[in-house]
Amino acid sequence: MSITKKMEGFIEKSSWIRKMFEEGARLKGLYGAENVFDFSLGNPNVPPPEAFGKTLEAVAADNPEMIHGYMPNPGYPDVRAKVAAQVSLEQGMTVTADEILMTCGAAGGLNVILKSILEPGDEVVTPAPYFVEYNFYADNHGGSVKVVKTKPDFTLDLAAIEAGICDRTRAVLINSPNNPTGQIYSRESLEALGRMLDQKSAALGRTLYLISDEPYRKITYEGLEVPGVFPCYRNTLVTTSYSKDLSLAGERIGYVAICPAADARDRLMAGMALANRILGFVNAPALMQRVVGQLQGVTVDIGEYARKRSLLCDGLREAGYEFTLPAGAFYLFPKSPIADDVAFVRLLQEEKVLAVPGSGFGGPGHFRLSFCVSDATITGAMPGFKRAMEKSRSL
Ligand code: PLP
Repeated sequence: MSITKKMEGFIEKSSWIRKMFEEGARLKGLYGAENVFDFSLGNPNVPPPEAFGKTLEAVAADNPEMIHGYMPNPGYPDVRAKVAAQVSLEQGMTVTADEILMTCGAAGGLNVILKSILEPGDEVVTPAPYFVEYNFYADNHGGSVKVVKTKPDFTLDLAAIEAGICDRTRAVLINSPNNPTGQIYSRESLEALGRMLDQKSAALGRTLYLISDEPYRKITYEGLEVPGVFPCYRNTLVTTSYSKDLSLAGERIGYVAICPAADARDRLMAGMALANRILGFVNAPALMQRVVGQLQGVTVDIGEYARKRSLLCDGLREAGYEFTLPAGAFYLFPKSPIADDVAFVRLLQEEKVLAVPGSGFGGPGHFRLSFCVSDATITGAMPGFKRAMEKSRSL
């Protein structure tokens, strides 16, 4: 044995992703990449805004002493202050630099949070469908994820979350706009969630945290706004990144914000700063911190995603697919025309269309399409989507 049984198990568990990837590569090799329609990855294809390139050049040219050196583990104080000003606007509460910790993306942020708050055996309740990497992140820090259902339109089911909370629960982890459903949770539902978490914390005699994973906050449609979570519950930690809204996924830059009304804020910050260091991140990338500090409030052209969403949704509707229109993010989560979503994804593969089965997100009976792809991919895939629907009807 070269690696642990646990890692062997994890590799096996996530093997469908690898299989999909391999199948995609095989099809692309056989038919040419332009003839394979790949909707499997959430890798943003809209270019970063022009301001990004200009700022990067200016920041790279400005070379004060020690600019490439270590820094305080939470990040540059001036960048944290700029981020705090933007978070204050988004969350509707005044946040200061002391409540911001710069991280290696939202993934880094989630690991830093969970490292700081989970005791061995603790549970993190999360509504499904969900981003399944959460399982690995919780496990990294001795915890586990407990999945609870959402309503049929993928909005929060408060009763299900409440029923999922027990004396081992440490946090509820939500993601809005959601990957894979595109759903945005309403202010009313977040307020109700906050009230319930207050009551449960008191009843259980332990602090329950709300973790809000928000990398898609700025990618919304039809003028919709994602409500701030801080005013809804005080023991809240927000994590996010610039991976999606500035298309900087490979640059690994994001942050965690602690609600200014949270209990023991200084201990949370001390724990997370040390976690940043001892998880091996040490600090978020220096150059990118300086760049994003100057790009607060700037985003990619969301209109591009809105257009792609219409193109895909109009085409699929016409082909007979059923789905909840995504309110945000760049994913569509249609119903599989047959109960077995893995089998349907195979039918799509026969048509050289690559999608991910909903089962992989704790949402069986559906499949996920990422529409951060070229228009040619969307229009080129439509005949295949139609044929797969026809085939499924004749099964
Ligand atoms: N959370 C969700 C819901 C995601 O979809 C992703 C990436 O796809 C992440 C977190 C991690 O993003 P990053 O670490 O690039 O910020």
